[in-house]
Parts: sequence; structure tokens; C-alpha cells
Amino acid sequence: MRLERFSMGVGDRFGLQGEAQLAAFDEARRRGIEVVPVWNKSNREHKTVGTGPESVRQEADSAVAARGWNHGYHVDADHIALDTVDPYIPHSDFFTIDVAAFIGQQASPDAIRAFTDKQASRVGRITVPGISEPLEVSAAQITQIAETFLLAVQEAGKIYRRIAEQRGAENCIFEISMDETERPQTPVEMLFILAAVAEEGIPIQTIAPKFTGRFNKGVDYVGDLTKFSQEFEQDLAVLAYAVDEFGLPDTLKLSVHSGSDKFSIYGPMREAVHKTGAGLHLKTAGTTWLEELIGLALSGNDGLALAKEVYAQAYGRFDELAAPYANVIDIDVSKLPSVETVGEWSGEQFASALRHVPEHQEFNPHFRQLLHVGYKVAAEMGDRYLDALKRNATVVGENVTENILDRHLLRVFG
Ligand SMILES: [Zn+2]
Repeated sequence: MRLERFSMGVGDRFGLQGEAQLAAFDEARRRGIEVVPVWNKSNREHKTVGTGPESVRQEADSAVAARGWNHGYHVDADHIALDTVDPYIPHSDFFTIDVAAFIGQQASPDAIRAFTDKQASRVGRITVPGISEPLEVSAAQITQIAETFLLAVQEAGKIYRRIAEQRGAENCIFEISMDETERPQTPVEMLFILAAVAEEGIPIQTIAPKFTGRFNKGVDYVGDLTKFSQEFEQDLAVLAYAVDEFGLPDTLKLSVHSGSDKFSIYGPMREAVHKTGAGLHLKTAGTTWLEELIGLALSGNDGLALAKEVYAQAYGRFDELAAPYANVIDIDVSKLPSVETVGEWSGEQFASALRHVPEHQEFNPHFRQLLHVGYKVAAEMGDRYLDALKRNATVVGENVTENILDRHLLRVFG
């Protein structure tokens, strides 16, 4: 199973927006932009919302059938590990193998030595087309990379083989994610990680590194744009080199996680992939849930009241809701509007504070980030929340589609 050149991961916490999301891909295609959707949901999201892996498959299949979509699409078991993968195997065809927890733990001395010996011929200067200066590699550096990453790659191998045994490797797309870790990987590290992945026999088609800067949930990138662009371009070059050098699948491409709403890096990413002919996977998740709240607020009356209730509860449970996401949000509590203030807002005001239009006077990134991590509140409302979405499906769906199309597909892949 080959992953298409351009793909975008869409999350849908409550499972009702599949058709509205797919409508955005349809419209992009009508405008000549070919991107395939990948419905992703992590184990953490499933646990919070109380759903199982089969629900994502059902949603994707029925959205595709309803819209008569006759292009590719996939269902991603997002950030799975050896102890969580099993229930996903029958329902997913895309597996994001998360081994970040193993980075920094050492493989056996024998394995490290074997890897270092095998790579010894690469000591010296490596010229990677697309990177201006040759990469300088020492034997000590290869050993150090093996000490840091080899165990993580071996763990990915275990997970890969477990999936392959049950589903057949040829029926799956494999990604390795290393984004949820402390520091960005360097180009040299990336090169030898890919060497290890190839030796482990994992036919990965996407890899998610950690990039420099902050990838906060639902808001723009915060960091050094020049440095990000350089890292991104160097990673593209290393991936292309690794395909030839190590025999990895020629579909291998970068996966950018927490990719929603990162407007300031979309330009450099788009230019780099068009210039090099590389592919790209952009993974997003929670941005659709925020459009549900926007749609509910705009629907007025009971929808607006419900959206305000979600905020009131999230505001009161700040510590609990923010804790699991501490590394991917930056909320200044003093900039959060009070529950009383929000209580007086019109639907338009609520929507303008929440909708990601940074230049809008009323936009409030703190409000947006808190609601982003507040989906647990809506999950606890159960049918009351789901019924409100169903009653207001048209306005909610319009906002979901517009967000995926205008603020994502067109900007990243256009
Ligand atoms: Zn991730």
C-alpha cells in the first residue's frame, strides 16, 4: 500500500464531521490540489471520549461512501505502542508507531557495536544533495546516535512485526514518530535513524521528527522561522538520500505533527516540497472540534448556551484539563475572559474569539487553547453535546469544511 504524495491527517473527536471534512478535500481537488485524507485518532483521544478504533474506520468508510469519494483515504492508529496497538490492527491501515519514550534508553552493547561497525564506512564527509555543506560524521558520533536511538528503532521493529504478522505489511502504511521528545533531531541523527530503520526492516513511508520551535495546539507556530525552514529542507534532503542509500520506500516523506493552524510555516513548507518534488503528511486533530464549538455558538440559542457551558466548565477545571497537554499549550490565565464576560457574548463574539483569524481584533489564543484541551468536558456531556451537533449539523459542517479547506489544504498544498 503506497501513501499518496500529499496527505493530511484529520482528527474528529466526536466522529460526526467525516463528511464535512471530506467535502474540503473534494473542493481542493476541484481546484487541482490533490490531497488524500487520513482519519487519525490516538489512544488518549479514544480514552477521553470513550470510543474505540472501529469507530474511526466506520466514520471514514461512511463519509467516503456518502460523498462518492473515489480516491485514496486511510485510517491512522495514531501514536500507538506495543501495549496499545492490538485493538487497532483490524481497523487501521496506517500506523503511527510512537517510540519517543524509548529515545535515550540504551540498546544492548552488542547491538550498538554491530550497528556502529556496519556504519563505519560512512565515517568522514557525506555529501547529501540539497544540503550545501557536507555532513561531518565521526565514529564516536555514530556510536552516540546508536546509544540514543537504536533501542527506539528496535522497539518500532517489534511493533511493526506485530502489525505485519496480523495484517500483512503490504496492506499497511507505517510511520515512526519521534516528535514527542525533548529536542529536535539533527540531520546527521536523522540519517542514522533511517539507516537503523532500514536495517530493522521497517518499510516506513513517513517519519515525524521533532522540529525546532513550539507546536502549540490549535495556534500558530512559535519559533525561529529561518531555523525551522532550514531544518525542514535538510530533513527533506536526508530523506531523499536515505531512500536511495538504504533502500527505504520511495514514498518516504516527512510527517508534521500538531500541524493544524501553523500558518507561518505553511509557506516555507509549501515552497520546499514544490521545489524538491517531495511529499508531505500534515497531521492535525483538534482543530475540527473547535469548529464544532464555533458552529454551535453561531447557531444561537441552545447551541450558544452549550458552547458557553463548555467554556465555563473548562475554565473551572483549568489545571486538570491543561496538565496532560502542558508541553503543547501556552496559556496566560490572566488573558482568559471570565465566565461572566463570556456569558454575555453573542454567538458572533464567541466565534470571533475562538476562530483562528489572528488579525481579528477579538481573537483570543488563550481562550482557543483552553477550549482545545477542553474536549473532555463535551465528552462528559455525552448525548446532550452530540444531539446539539446533530441539530446544528449544517452550520457546524460549514465551519469544519471552511477550516480544513481555507486555513489548511489551500495554504499548505496550494
Ligand atoms: Zn505527534
